[in-house]
This record gives sequence, C-alpha cells and structure tokens, in this order.
Amino acid sequence: MDVSRIQNIAKEILLLAVLLIVKFKFYKMNKILMGILAFALLEGCSTNVKNTVDTAEKYPALDVQNMDTTIKPGDDFYDYVNGTWIKNHPIPPDKNSISAFDELMEKNRHDIREIIEEAASDLNALPGSNTQKIGTFYNSGMDTVSIEQQGIKPIKKFFDKIDSIRNINDVQSVAAYFQTYQIGPFFYLFSNQDSKNSASVIAGCYQAGIGLPDRDYYFNNDGPTKKIREEYIVHLTKMFELLNDQPDVAAKNAQTVMKIETELAKASFTHVENQDPQKTYNKLTPEGLAKLSPDINWKSYFANVGYADISEVNVYQPSFLKELSAMMKTVPVDDWKTFLRWHLINNTAAYLNDDFVKQNFDFYSKSLSGQEQMKPRWKRVLDETSSDLGECIGQLYVQKYFPPEAKQKMTNLVMNLKKSLKQRIENLTWMGPETKKEAIAKLDKMGVKVGYPDKWRDYSGLEITSQPYVLNVANSGAFDFRYSMDKIGKPVDPTEWGMTPQTVNAYYNPNRNEIVFPAGILQPPFFNMYADDAVNYGAIGMVIGHEMTHGFDNMGRQFDKDGNLRDWWTKDDSKAFKEHTKMLVDQYNKYEVLDSTFVNGQLTLGENIADLGGITVALNAYKLSLQGKEQPKPIDGFTDLQRFFMSYAQIWRTNMRQKELRRRVKTDEHSPAKIRINGVVYNVPEFYTAFPGIKPEDKLYRPSDERPVIW
Ligand SMILES: [Zn+2]
Repeated sequence: MDVSRIQNIAKEILLLAVLLIVKFKFYKMNKILMGILAFALLEGCSTNVKNTVDTAEKYPALDVQNMDTTIKPGDDFYDYVNGTWIKNHPIPPDKNSISAFDELMEKNRHDIREIIEEAASDLNALPGSNTQKIGTFYNSGMDTVSIEQQGIKPIKKFFDKIDSIRNINDVQSVAAYFQTYQIGPFFYLFSNQDSKNSASVIAGCYQAGIGLPDRDYYFNNDGPTKKIREEYIVHLTKMFELLNDQPDVAAKNAQTVMKIETELAKASFTHVENQDPQKTYNKLTPEGLAKLSPDINWKSYFANVGYADISEVNVYQPSFLKELSAMMKTVPVDDWKTFLRWHLINNTAAYLNDDFVKQNFDFYSKSLSGQEQMKPRWKRVLDETSSDLGECIGQLYVQKYFPPEAKQKMTNLVMNLKKSLKQRIENLTWMGPETKKEAIAKLDKMGVKVGYPDKWRDYSGLEITSQPYVLNVANSGAFDFRYSMDKIGKPVDPTEWGMTPQTVNAYYNPNRNEIVFPAGILQPPFFNMYADDAVNYGAIGMVIGHEMTHGFDNMGRQFDKDGNLRDWWTKDDSKAFKEHTKMLVDQYNKYEVLDSTFVNGQLTLGENIADLGGITVALNAYKLSLQGKEQPKPIDGFTDLQRFFMSYAQIWRTNMRQKELRRRVKTDEHSPAKIRINGVVYNVPEFYTAFPGIKPEDKLYRPSDERPVIW
C-alpha cells in the first residue's frame, strides 16, 4: 500500500472480490536490477527475444553467494539459503521491503519505461491510438509545472457536486456519481460471475468507506494500532486544512470522518469472513435490496450510475448495507458532505500538487508502512500508467520481452504439474473414491492461461487527452467501471484476464476454474530458461502447484469443476479435510512475527495449504520428469534435490520494514516470507532426505507423525 488512495485499495479489493482468491499479491517494492535501457521500441521480435535470453543467461540458477553456511539448514533453512543476501540488501529508503519479487518488478519497470518513453516521444502517434494514450497519460503525470499551477482546480466539478447537496437523497446521488469514477465512498459496485451459476454475470456490491487498511485498525487497542489511529486523525485534519478549512473546522471534520468510518468498520466483515464464499453469497433482487437497506434508494442509485435495469446483485456483506442504510437516518447531511469531501480528496491526492502528494505519502506510506522516502516521480507515474492502460502496455510488453519458447516451456511444465497432482490425489489415503473422482474431474477441467490474453482489451472508448493528470486517472476509473458493469447479463468472455501481462504474480480464479501466469512472472528467479530442472521445479513449478491447489484449498474446494459453489465432497472426506488442515491452522497460529503479533492461522490457511500443496506437487512432478533419465549430477556441490528446496527458498528472500510487516499480518492472507519457507519444508519428508544431517534436536525437525499431508 505504497500509493494509498482508496482507488488503489478499491482495485485491490475489487480484484479480491472478482477473483476471490488472488495469489502472490505483492505490491510496490523493488530494487534496480538493470540500468536504464536504450530506446528501442518495436524492433524485430527476434532481437528482443535475444535480449531476454541474454538476461536469463546472466541470471544464475542458484546463487550460492547468497547463502549463509554458518547456519544449519535444519535450524533455519530460509537464512541458510538467503542469509548473505539478506545482510547485503538493506531496504532502500523509498521502499517498504525488498525481495526477489521487488527485484523482478523493478526490472519490469525499466522494461516498461522503454515502451512508455518511446510512446511519449512519438509525435506522429494517431489520436486515439494506444501509443497516443500511453504517451499522453504519462506526459500528463510528468508535467509537474501544470500540476502545481492547477492545484485542486481540476477536480472542482466534484467538489461543486458535494456543495450542492441539500438532503439525504442528494448525498446518495453524489455517492453514485463518484461511483461511476470507481470512487466508492460507501461500497464498490462491479460485475462478477454468479458463484452459483458461473455462466451468468451479475452485479456485486462490496463494503467500502473506511480509510484505514482494515476494520481492526478502528478497534484494536495495542500500542502501535492506537498510534496509527492518532496519526490518522492528524492526517485527516491536515488534508482538510489543505482544502482551506480553518484549523478548528478541519479538526472537527477529522473527528466526524473518524466517527462515521468507525461505525462502518463495526458493520464490516472481517478478512476471515470475507474469505467465506457461502457467507459472502447473498443474491438479491432490487426488492430484496430495498428490504435489507430501506433507506438507500436503490432505484435511483442504479439509475444514477447508468445501470437502471440491474435485476440481481450479490451483496457480499449484508450487515454492512443494513448499517449503512440505518446511518442514512442518523448521520446529519452536513456530516455526510464532510465524509464525501474526504473520500474525494483521498482518492485524488496522489495526482494533485505536491502538498497533497506529500501529506498522502506521510500517512499511508510512512506511518502505515514505515517507508522513508517517496519513489521517484517517474516510477509513480509509470505504475499508474501501467495499471490504467494495462493491456495497451501489455501488448507491447509481450511483443518486446516475452519469447514464444518461454510460453511453450511453461505450458509443458503446467501439464507435468497437472499429471503430478492427479497422481497425488489418486494416492491420497484420507480421501474416498467418490470425492477423488470429482476432484480429478475438476483438475482435468482446470483452464490454463500463460503469458498474455489471446484477445486484447479494446481501449477505444477511453479518452486520454492533454487534460490534467488527475482527470486522465479519473477517466480511466470511469472507463473501468463501465467495462465491468457492461458485462452484466452478457455471456462470460473466456479469453479475459484478471491481471495484466506485465504483472509479477499469478492467480487461480474459482469461478472460472482456471490458473493464470502472466508473462511478468515468467522470468528469473521464478522461471529460468537456462537453469537446471530442479531449480525451475522448485520455483515456478512450486508457483504452478500453489495456484493449482488453490482449487482445492479451504475456499477453492467449495467450487466445482464448472466454477459453481456446490458441495461435491462426501461428509467423511469433508471432515477428514478439516482435520488435516486444522493441523496447519494450529501450526501457523503459533508463529509470533512481532512482539505479541501472531500469524492468523485461519486467515492464512488457504495460502498455507497452497504452499505445502505447491511444493509437494512440484516435487512429485520433478521426480516424474526424471523417470528414464540419468540422475542429475550435483552442481556447486549441491544435489538436485537440495537445489530444488534451495530454489524454493530463494524466491521468497525478503527484507521488510516492521511497520509494513505489522500491516501485512493484519490484512494479508499470505504468511510472512520466512514462514512460507521454514513452515513448509519441515512438513515435507523429502526435505530430510535432501539434507540428511537434520536431526531431531534441530529447530526445524518435525516428527513424521506431526507432518500434515493435504495433497
Ligand atoms: Zn496463493
């Protein structure tokens, strides 16, 4: 949460809501791997492929220099593999962490910068073309002279709307107007597949309205959280002062916002509740909505967002809407106006003049995550361009940087992983034949997407002009809103992607029953065309297995092969699954990350199952790949099995600021990096074969009867 504005949070939550289970979510972190590259857009593909090959060749499969061999692998495997890297990679002041993900994201940034700067300097780009949009968007963000001169003038029309509010109906109309720009002061509105009828697309309504990262921030009374609340009040006050409120008025307004948000937070679902696909499935007609929340005028709300004929809405958190509706009667109209002013400025601050940008950074990046300095402007603008014009840039990115042979090799790997998981399911002792049959049918039907979409998104309806930066961003939000809402009532587009090709991440989408691997992650150290197989299976193989087993984790298992929420498990197998996974809940609950801050074993369960499942399935796939082949020789003194585990540990190397870690433990469904290694390897029997020196007295030793077997 480097960029703090709600719009980004909105996108993250939307993605969570849309995909339900988004994997490997890693934000804005980094290290410069490569220098700034020369301008070279749209040269022949082969030349560019060669560039990628060169990079891969330079990138060592496993860098033993990163290890700390004074540590025993049986005491701390993560530090054994990464100890020297950790010592040598302090967190740069403009980051809140540094990791293998950050390094690759930084490399991608430099790749994307070439594309963007080429577009930005192309004076012959046709108006309305993708090149024009990329160049104009970026240039508007880099034009600090205009941005400083304009101040908040560009968003005056939004403030005027708030000023014109006279009654509670007006409050709701203005909220709807903001909604069309993807600013959700109350909730987010979007489209999604109907979880019980995945062939149909319906509207979704998801809780919003709070400015802190999670509901717990409003209630937890530990020292650090209380301090964040105090700092939040200061931040709110300063923002109102920047909007020219007198100090006493600004201070009062800050209290008003805090009061409203605390009430909304109280009615919000927790992260664990939001992970429950049944609990968050509440399909309502407009009549049902009116009954649940009688003081929200849904008919006019839908008309005001331009979708008057919405006939079905999945309400993810009914208690939230109920409370919001009740607040329409209890909160004075003037207080709502203050609340709307805050949400407007919070969404736009990052794109306005320096005073707003700095204040926004001070709270959301410094206070919340411990980041010391802002990223340079070009990186911030580049990230925004890459996100708002995602597939415009993605299309150029894959032409330039994604070699066809990488797609082929990755597709083969995925097939091997599928075979491996199938074999693991067939051999499970805790699962009966009926459930196995369904599980295998689901696995067989699981879709696979690699690299980039077969069909590119059409951006022709998006107008990007030399208008102020903040308005280009707002237009892009409006374009995304319509793009999502226009899907309602239409058939599901099977070619659509939930991430851009340049993203360093991957996901499983339960409604579509598919796994997706963007080109961005198919690079070292995750995927290395020139590394030994053990290293690739331990890294990208594990990532594939991880995503695949999400289809069978505590949430994914509730969906069937067609992406419908339907229970296909026998009673006994369901019980056995819960018993086995309970071992993981208990295990992770015991990890103390910071003083009296523990991992939430339930919140992270799906990810922990996927980590253990991923490594198990990848290892089995690697063994299958060796059949009929000669046993690989050791490299750098390490056997192939050792290199498999070391490669896994390598991709999670991370240094993170304490504040950021604290924020993650509250809000992230993934366990901290070190635990993703040490908490996983000691449950895998082959780990002890690979490192035979590990003895019962070592810290990472676990007796075989205490090691859970899920997949
Ligand atoms: Zn995951």
